[in-house]
Amino acid sequence: MATERTFSIIKPDAVENNHVGAIIAHFEKNGLRPVAIKRKQLTQTEAEGFYAVHAERPFFGELVDFMTRSPVVLMVLEGEDAVKKNREVMGATNPAEAAEGTIRKMYAQSIGENSVHGSDSPENAAIEIAYFFAATEIFS
Ligand code: ADP
Ligand code: MG
Repeated sequence: MATERTFSIIKPDAVENNHVGAIIAHFEKNGLRPVAIKRKQLTQTEAEGFYAVHAERPFFGELVDFMTRSPVVLMVLEGEDAVKKNREVMGATNPAEAAEGTIRKMYAQSIGENSVHGSDSPENAAIEIAYFFAATEIFS
């Protein structure tokens, strides 16, 4: 297994409820090291572009409204098999179905407001990292 990078967002619900530190600590405990971190309030254009793959889904408007309502924390996480590892640590999209000990089980409120985003493949991780970070902002 090689060292890999993935893209993570701590979403507005988790930031509003002051779970940023706990979530980053949880990533670190699980071998995912933040090598870039940025707090930002997403614009509608940024959120729509980031989630463009979901543009035809019925929840798209709700998702963009949620992601832009207050600041998020954007991160590049690095570690062994980071994309898959991050998805495991996050838990299922619907917190009601997420395993015990996962971030979504511990902190998420609903399938929409589910505390964290994580890339679903190494290819998408590279695209998502480049959407928000310059190479010069990432330090392993
Ligand atoms: P994941 O974030 O686990 O990769 P998806 O890529 O399927 O999940 O969906 C992207 C995001 O859209 C989810 O994290 C969640 O915030 C939102 N979402 C997904 N499904 C629903 C739904 N049925 N109702 C409302 N929001 C949803
Ligand atoms: Mg997804």
